[in-house]
Amino acid sequence: MGFDRNQYLRELETIVNIDSGSRNPAGTREVAAFLEEKYRQQGFVTELVSVGPEVGPVLVATNAPDEPIDLLFIGHTDTVFLDGEASRRPFTIEGERLYGPGVYDMKGCSLLTAYLLENLPTELKQSLNICVIHNPDEEISSFYSREVIIEKAKMAKFAFVMEPSSADGSMIKERKGIEKLKIHFKGRPSHAGDAPQEGRSAINELAHWIVRMNTLIDYAAGVSVNAGTIQGGSVPNVVPEHAQMELDYRYSNPTDVTAFFDMLEELQDHAAAMEIGIDIEVIGKRPPMIDVPGAKALRSVFENVGKQMDTVVSFKKSGGVSDANFTTSVGVPTVCSIGLIGGAFHTDHEYVELDSIQQRLDLLTAVITEMSRRKMFCESADRLSIS
Ligand SMILES: [Zn+2]
Repeated sequence: MGFDRNQYLRELETIVNIDSGSRNPAGTREVAAFLEEKYRQQGFVTELVSVGPEVGPVLVATNAPDEPIDLLFIGHTDTVFLDGEASRRPFTIEGERLYGPGVYDMKGCSLLTAYLLENLPTELKQSLNICVIHNPDEEISSFYSREVIIEKAKMAKFAFVMEPSSADGSMIKERKGIEKLKIHFKGRPSHAGDAPQEGRSAINELAHWIVRMNTLIDYAAGVSVNAGTIQGGSVPNVVPEHAQMELDYRYSNPTDVTAFFDMLEELQDHAAAMEIGIDIEVIGKRPPMIDVPGAKALRSVFENVGKQMDTVVSFKKSGGVSDANFTTSVGVPTVCSIGLIGGAFHTDHEYVELDSIQQRLDLLTAVITEMSRRKMFCESADRLSIS
């Protein structure tokens, strides 16, 4: 059979040219249905799992339903782009690069997953329980799909999160966790000259929160705080009734988040004492992707195989988040961003290096072969039975 690159490119064109922003349920459904057919054709049992009307379904495909999973693949069908983007700049090939909305992050990589499995040596494939998840909402924090991911991760021995690799080919071993909040402050308006003492300034309270939150910053420990947006007030001579901010807190060590919630509690007490009403909306939340037992051995397979194939394999830490944050939170040795090489993700000039398609297929095939040869899928069964 062998890998048919032209067919891959034709199919990639089809799915890149479908608008599938996270808030476009029909679009992500169409991409999921396309991929579903690919898995069906290779004999996988598939299901489009509804996770609510706000987003499209989660595609779950497996060759061994209800069995413990040897290898869990995760990729998303959504993009950060709004409707109309696909017709504005459809899929194109220019020289040695592919362009189009979501081609790099990560339609090229999700499609690659289907091809990788289709082209695995038959005996190897039959010996493994494989499960693939394609979720529709990664770019909006996987709020709707996270339970499906965690449920499958709890049954999995290893996870490959197929997000794209960096421009230099590097992959990701650890990611920060995130708490992202939208906080609304409601004070009491008054004339700033005539009756300032009667006012309760929403902006003053917001400012106090930022200053206090910033005391948590510890870059060496991987903790950062960013008040990314603020709004508030109306005119200079009125004590402001309303203010609002969006706050982004990131951390590397799972226990550090306690300090964040303690601070939030302290600040809510402060607001109450100042007679300011508070409304907090969680707009993003993930635990960190951590270096769990077994992950180092997994990475060393990538490194060794890479050496044999003359492909540079390196792993970095990232401040960004992905669905790998969920798989390691339940202890699954995970590698992330092992997909296609390219760059400029989330922009209108994102691209994929054409020659990385074959390169990643070969690398990942060799890695899975080597994992099997080392009997890693047998040995790690212990972890599942105790969890
Ligand atoms: Zn992505």
